[in-house]
Amino acid sequence: MELILTKNIHKLNSESIDVYLSGGGYRSHEKALKTMTPDQVIEEVKKSGIRGRGGAGFPMGGKWGFVPKDDSRPHYMVCNADESEPGTFKDRIIIEKDPHLLIEGIIIGSYAIRAHLAFIYIRGEYVHGYNILKKAIAETYDKGFLGKNILGTGFNLDLILHRGAGAYICGEETALMDSIEGKRGNPRLKPPFPAQIGIFKNPTNINNVETLANVPAIIEKGGEWYSKIGRANNTGTKLYCLSGHIKRPGVYELPLGIPLRELIYNHGGGMLQDDRKLKAVIPGGSSVPVLTADQVDVLMDFDSLQAAGSMLGSAGIIVMDDSVCMVKATHRITKFYAHESCGQCTPCREGTGWMEKLLRRMEAGRGENGDTELLYDVAQNILGNTICPLGDAAAMPVMSFVEKFREEFEFHISNKRCMV
Ligand code: SF4
Repeated sequence: MELILTKNIHKLNSESIDVYLSGGGYRSHEKALKTMTPDQVIEEVKKSGIRGRGGAGFPMGGKWGFVPKDDSRPHYMVCNADESEPGTFKDRIIIEKDPHLLIEGIIIGSYAIRAHLAFIYIRGEYVHGYNILKKAIAETYDKGFLGKNILGTGFNLDLILHRGAGAYICGEETALMDSIEGKRGNPRLKPPFPAQIGIFKNPTNINNVETLANVPAIIEKGGEWYSKIGRANNTGTKLYCLSGHIKRPGVYELPLGIPLRELIYNHGGGMLQDDRKLKAVIPGGSSVPVLTADQVDVLMDFDSLQAAGSMLGSAGIIVMDDSVCMVKATHRITKFYAHESCGQCTPCREGTGWMEKLLRRMEAGRGENGDTELLYDVAQNILGNTICPLGDAAAMPVMSFVEKFREEFEFHISNKRCMV
């Protein structure tokens, strides 16, 4: 399989512009800027069928097409590099090992949506990545690929690197926009969508790091070439993050639609301890519903995981063996979302806190009869009743853990101890 996103990462000094150029880098942005119109770039991306890699899986070409063409307001391109979903560490590889692949994707995307100012919003904790990107952006200006009159085409683009301050919620696109504006990162109600009313009320497009890093290859080889990788409606390669109880954790670039079993047993090397059995897998970062061991033949793509009752999310695959207490795992996840809730809406602000308290007391052997039902009821009342997806992200794992491992929750309450 031809690598698209990780082809350069093992080269010596892969983060430098000279290494990137020697491997054919920045040819695609030249092709786009010199031989294609913005609309032709969008059409090529539409042909590729690529869906956003940040979690929602919305088609990228369609998203670019929503940015109004004949609007006199400034347009903004934003790269969401606020990678904070537990179990997810894929964008970090691109940022640290191949920053120019990302920058080239941002330049092409900015040209397509007619933006002359772009931002990379990077997670505050990614200090190393921030320093790498800072240097890479300076190199790109020096070569004349950013700034005024890029490659003599008349196209101008400035790129600002903006650091987050450690809030998970700023990965949500509207909270991210507030943060860039200098405000507290609070999610906004949608509609209006960022394409109409974005940063400083101007049309704004936001894409994830991995999504944008695919753009140079799509422009170089064509959308049709890209559309043949993976499966129908789930095209391209994907960076899968493997972690938990497996022998070879890491980031793997493989086509969308690979069986989860193949990822865990062939690429990940199987269970960490040979005498342990697979118990559960979270396939898309901690916010998606958990899968049981007998669902391990599911295909890792947007549609197959949805049909299996979960989501591809960020493809942060967390593998759990039979030593894991499901009450404890649910408590860990819930504690995170309760801490990260911005507090704007009551179901999320109060509900995540209640769920955390219920789980804490169950885990500590102080659970009471009816707590499992109460926990599920609270989660159900959060689901779909909040401004942003964090509410669902907190509720969905709780509901799925209770649905699939109810006996462990009941055992904790009755026996005041863990089952495993
Ligand atoms: S769902 Fe939670 S994080 Fe999102 S806006 Fe409401 S309170 Fe804030």
